[in-house]
Amino acid sequence: MHRRDFIKKTTLMGGLLILNPKFHFELMNEFPEEELIGKGKPALYGEGFKLREEARLQFNLIRKAAKEKGFNMHVISSYRSYTHQNGIWERKYKSFRSQGFSHQKTIEKIIQYSTIPGTSRHHWGTDLDIIDSTRGIPSNPLSEVHFNEGGRMRKFKIWLDENSEKFGFHLVYTNTPGRKGFAYEPWHFSYKPISIRMLKEYKELDIKKLLQTNKLMGSEHFTDEFIERYKRENILDINPDLLP
Ligand SMILES: [Zn+2]
Repeated sequence: MHRRDFIKKTTLMGGLLILNPKFHFELMNEFPEEELIGKGKPALYGEGFKLREEARLQFNLIRKAAKEKGFNMHVISSYRSYTHQNGIWERKYKSFRSQGFSHQKTIEKIIQYSTIPGTSRHHWGTDLDIIDSTRGIPSNPLSEVHFNEGGRMRKFKIWLDENSEKFGFHLVYTNTPGRKGFAYEPWHFSYKPISIRMLKEYKELDIKKLLQTNKLMGSEHFTDEFIERYKRENILDINPDLLP
């Protein structure tokens, strides 16, 4: 930026800040908080799935490319609202509790694969779970075995490894040794050009306050230490390509 333009811009910003202190916040944030936590109404598009427009366009391109190689890319899950995620949370909570697990153990069991409502990347309209349905959809489609050596989606997995990033889609929960947080999910991809910007703003949110004010099932058992660890491991210990 030229110096003169810079001075012009900063003077303008200073003026606006005096007039409206909130302007600073709005200027720095591209996404409303509600959209980061699944309570917003982002514009979503797709045929049999829901993604933000740019992610949908890129997804249609990758799906077409996969089709040309003989794969039938099928979306199991894409956008999920807070309410939807809360339904998953409560169903699993009740199920583990009825099997005799303590509250603490129940929470640990759920967060191996599922997120606490308000913290899911599926809230963003940038992330999706995909499989290859060339040989039909198995009863447990989101299972690592299909993607591993000898699995029915192994060739698809190898193709994804080589091609998905060309379209902007990156694996989130990798099988990198030592990675903590959510378990390996070879099916969960994120459209990086948008999600990296969303994560940058998500990191600025007060997650502790968010989880405590939402009053979800079992949230009285979320200790400060637990929330800190959840942030560090479940939200941020992901594929480093996706970190802002
Ligand atoms: Zn997922």
